[in-house]
Amino acid sequence: MTDLLEHPLGARPGKPGDRGAFSFETITRLPDAASGLGRDGARYGRTGIIHTPHGDIRTPAFVPVGTQAAMKGVLPETMRELGAQCLLANAFHLFERPGESVLDAGGGLSKFMNWDGPTFTDSGGFQVLSLGAGFKKTLAMDVTGKKSDDIIAAGKERLAWVDEDGVTFKSPLNGDEHRFSAEISMGIQHRIGADIMFAFDELTTLMNTRGYQEESVERTFRWARRCVAEHERLTAERVGKPYQALYGVVQGANYEDLRRRAASQIASLDFDGVGIGGAIEKRIIGNTCAWICDAMPENRPRHVLGIAAVDDIFACVENGGDTFDCVAPARCARNGAIYTHRGRYNIKRAENKLNFEPLEAGCGCYTCTHYSRAYVAHLLRAREINGFTLATIHNEYFFVHLLDDIRASIDGGYFEQFRDESLAHFYGE
Ligand SMILES: [Zn+2]
Repeated sequence: MTDLLEHPLGARPGKPGDRGAFSFETITRLPDAASGLGRDGARYGRTGIIHTPHGDIRTPAFVPVGTQAAMKGVLPETMRELGAQCLLANAFHLFERPGESVLDAGGGLSKFMNWDGPTFTDSGGFQVLSLGAGFKKTLAMDVTGKKSDDIIAAGKERLAWVDEDGVTFKSPLNGDEHRFSAEISMGIQHRIGADIMFAFDELTTLMNTRGYQEESVERTFRWARRCVAEHERLTAERVGKPYQALYGVVQGANYEDLRRRAASQIASLDFDGVGIGGAIEKRIIGNTCAWICDAMPENRPRHVLGIAAVDDIFACVENGGDTFDCVAPARCARNGAIYTHRGRYNIKRAENKLNFEPLEAGCGCYTCTHYSRAYVAHLLRAREINGFTLATIHNEYFFVHLLDDIRASIDGGYFEQFRDESLAHFYGE
């Protein structure tokens, strides 16, 4: 690995970062089709390149999540070797520890964690607001009969409160009370120094009432405006450092009119890209991407926040998603859930105890080319860290290469065939 520059493509001394260091170029667009979910049958799926100060991201791309500026048990060098192009860390966790000023002093997120490539941070909104709601984001949440703004906090001490200006919350680490707002999130993300940041938004669940969702979309728009203003102010102050791109986040849960309104609002502001956030029902996940793309300029990259079901990824790519992050491959790996092209299995099941084949036949990852199911299963049962490492390498490789293969299928003109075959294999249809 080459020595990392402190601020690759950084600004000259005394000058703020140049916005031209971040851009998106389209390579291949999926042709419009009768099945297209966008306006007039448009299909927004495409391949392209996101240019950032720390390097290019060829899209569609999977973005592995290293919450605390680390993949648990896997070095950044190994993530690079398995094909990862970029990583996402969580602003909230880094704010809690070690503190964003440490990353700033260490030359920014990439240099601090010895990752020679582009990085993302989320706004912290998801983590902060999860404390209040006591829910996990799920894209297929069963909400039958549940429509109450209160139910989401039931049975759990509330740790976060939303008001017009921001969110007050208690640290899950030590109980200290903290405050997050548009300005505070921007300040933290600027000091962390990722190439791509997200505006501070309010995350709702599918269980919130329609009335609350409407209020929340409007509040997120007001926060988005404040994020853009603060981002411009901080960019001007960002002397000698590279430009950081800012994505606006579209909320609106599963309501088409709210999603379209939120998308128009975010498109009207001077963001570099868009994040598709919030809870979305699985059956309309492709439609949701298309509604948002209807309103977005072509040159803004689109990131789908927190998604990892294989069918959801195909639906989102077809309808315009460029990048996708999720913690699931790593989290599942630590529990022994192994992704393969024929579906997911648990490696700790008895049948693998004497199975000396790789985790997936034909897989090119380091784990599969060097280790057996029996060995990885043994390590995971024994809670050996190397088990986490080997299983995580395989699962991250699976998702990184799935997106690589999807990209090749769009460029090669065989996306539909590849999608249908992949889904049939994965879900055993
Ligand atoms: Zn493998």
